[in-house]
Amino acid sequence: MKLLIARPMTSAVEARARAEFDVEIRENTMPMSQQEMLSALAEFDVVVPTLGDQFSAQVFGDADKPRCKLLANFGVGYNHIDVDAARSAGLEVTNTPGAVTDATADIAMTLLLTTARRAGEGERLVRSGQWQGWHPTQMLGHHVSGKRVGIVGMGRIGQAIARRCHFGFGMQVAYQSRSAKDLDFPAEFMPQLQSLAASVDFLVLAVPGGAETRHLIDAHILEAVSPSAILINIARGEVVDEAALISALQSGQIAGAGLDVYEFEPSVPQVLCDMENVTLLPHLGTATEEVRSSMGHMALDNVAAFVAGRTLPNPV
Ligand code: NAP
Repeated sequence: MKLLIARPMTSAVEARARAEFDVEIRENTMPMSQQEMLSALAEFDVVVPTLGDQFSAQVFGDADKPRCKLLANFGVGYNHIDVDAARSAGLEVTNTPGAVTDATADIAMTLLLTTARRAGEGERLVRSGQWQGWHPTQMLGHHVSGKRVGIVGMGRIGQAIARRCHFGFGMQVAYQSRSAKDLDFPAEFMPQLQSLAASVDFLVLAVPGGAETRHLIDAHILEAVSPSAILINIARGEVVDEAALISALQSGQIAGAGLDVYEFEPSVPQVLCDMENVTLLPHLGTATEEVRSSMGHMALDNVAAFVAGRTLPNPV
């Protein structure tokens, strides 16, 4: 059984992969090219791909009777893989749910607090040497405690964010999801996204990417948002119509945004970089040593189950 891992991993994960499998670990940190994906499907039994590796219907169409039988994705989001096309080509797909939940919720709160309290702008001010000292009206931001947060996508990460907001900051929680949830904290289910958007101080996106959620946040929804509200996106860039968001920020239709992900990642529009009221992170959601190791182990658990002919722990 030949395994390809598409990116360098933490040392713990690489050590386990080398001990347990006949593995090749790609040294390049950039996404695989179409040609690399085709070669991987032809030459390996299992591939561990990740964000940016666009396993599209065309790639599976071009791969003639692929040797590869499992894509054990590193990451919970798998919108870069056309799962139906993979299945038609005889491949199974797994992901790494759960391992990423708390770290990603922490990054959502980092963005929420940083944007609301103007922490990025303040940090830039101190570093610039231009800070002239404290005064009662210096850099007034948005209060967070007790405010109303709207979570779009009340799944694992959405619930972890909601818990932090409720228990940590005394916030009122409202949410939209495909279905209402049985939760152990108070939260108002609002099935209409537009009504939710109109009712909150912070709108936090935690849905999966893909065709169903592309541009879920468009000009129409942004029009509904209060001019004092802040949008936080830790989901996928394509969930937000980035051009509409930029217009809404420029016109003051929305007060600010905290973004971990971008529609055309890693390209970030200069106009966003020039705005003081946005916080821009380089897709840091799961970026801790512990979490990346847990994700890697989870991906390898799926590989091990596949090799042993056992039921896959995390099929998508
Ligand atoms: P999850 O447990 O599957 O939760 C997703 C939630 O989204 C579910 O509550 C689902 O509703 C809801 N949903 C799905 N489609 C929807 C739609 N069209 N409209 C409204 N709600 C919809 O997934 P998760 O583990 O929380 O992860 C969520 C996403 O976060 C991942 O798919 C990934 O793209 C992203 N993520 C980002 C980072 C980062 O580094 N920034 C890290 C990890 C994950 P139902 O429960 O009602 O079906």
